[in-house]
Amino acid sequence: MELNNKYIVVKFSELSLKGGNKKEFVKILIRNIKNKLKDKKIKAEVKNAKDKIEIYSDHNLEEVFEIMDKIVGISSYSYYYKFEANEKNILKNLQEKLSNFQKGTKFRISLKIIQNDEFDDKSKLINLLAWYAIEKLGFIVDLSNYDIDINLRIEKNIAIFFFEKKIGIYGLPAGVNGKALTLLSGGIDSPVAAFKTVTRGVNVSFITFLTPRTSEANVINKIKDLAIKVDEYNGIHGKIIFVNFEKVQEEISKLKDSSYRITLLRRFFVKFAQIISKKYGYKFLITGDSLGQVASQTPESMTQIDNATDQLIIRPLVSMSKNEIIRIAEKIGTYKISIRPGDDMCSLFTPKKPIIFPKKEMVQDLESKLTNMDDILFKILKEETRIIDIKEIYDV
Ligand code: ATP
Ligand code: MG
Repeated sequence: MELNNKYIVVKFSELSLKGGNKKEFVKILIRNIKNKLKDKKIKAEVKNAKDKIEIYSDHNLEEVFEIMDKIVGISSYSYYYKFEANEKNILKNLQEKLSNFQKGTKFRISLKIIQNDEFDDKSKLINLLAWYAIEKLGFIVDLSNYDIDINLRIEKNIAIFFFEKKIGIYGLPAGVNGKALTLLSGGIDSPVAAFKTVTRGVNVSFITFLTPRTSEANVINKIKDLAIKVDEYNGIHGKIIFVNFEKVQEEISKLKDSSYRITLLRRFFVKFAQIISKKYGYKFLITGDSLGQVASQTPESMTQIDNATDQLIIRPLVSMSKNEIIRIAEKIGTYKISIRPGDDMCSLFTPKKPIIFPKKEMVQDLESKLTNMDDILFKILKEETRIIDIKEIYDV
């Protein structure tokens, strides 16, 4: 056997909660890992090893390792080293892998021996390892508050050694709960809402409503960059759908009452998004609304927007503060894209006094004055909708 056979072991989260579904979940997680490796043109073997996943590759393993922090459903991941079990190899591995840790590093040892005659005395081997760590590496024993846990498992003539765990993003593997469509603006919130939904096992796509006046290259690029950033967490790549909604905006502008503009515009957003969902199989819509942030984010307003569609709309940020949202945006890398200049259509369309508590009767009355909206939406679907498959960006 080759000395120092290095590979990656992935542990998964929450899957045990789902009992019978576990098998399916692990299958999807493995598929997602494989997809991610394929995007990066990395050849690797991804193996289901009961309650963990093993990844072997001749490729630069560090690059494979890095990818794991973007895969939802992983609780932790580590490098494992496999070698022939003898004292010389064990000490050689400790020396090689641990010598760049500082003196004073706190450690403990977890040792398991199965069917091996040479090391049948467990305490003797523990003493040897501890002596080495203390005397040769300058480490300090600390069983509860340790920096590294030196794990050694000896089974027959094979030793497996690992000592460091990186924490993953947890959640459910993207795809176990199907796919959904995010209403993506150029702001801070909606990309975070999309990401939070991915962590609950959903592959997300993105729809953005624009008017030509605002859809200059910088806005389009900003939206694309945001979508691609969030899509990095998807198990299967999503789509970016750009919709020229100028005609709808024009129609709404004709109404005398301007205070309901945003309510009406949002209602047509979700009506149109539902049409798209039917066509592509999105199970629900996602928005970045957070309760009380702006006028359109009151319960009354959300009720009137929900009323426009019979599709489920989820709002993962509804109870989060702006600080919490920004913290997540920074962590996933969308914040610095969101603060780039470039307004989505609404900021130019917002009336001076938007209605804060819209009423159902008023909404109905105003919408009854808008004729031909079904035809307009149909025409927009046919002529003013541009779809980008994110997968194609990776295929080139
Ligand atoms: P964000 O930071 O996501 O822009 P916001 O706090 O600015 O949110 P609003 O402008 O009220 O809030 O928008 C609420 C939600 O409506 C957004 O989070 C997004 O999901 C959706 N939305 C707003 N404008 C657009 C648009 N032009 N295209 C697609 N969705 C939009
Ligand atoms: Mg916004």
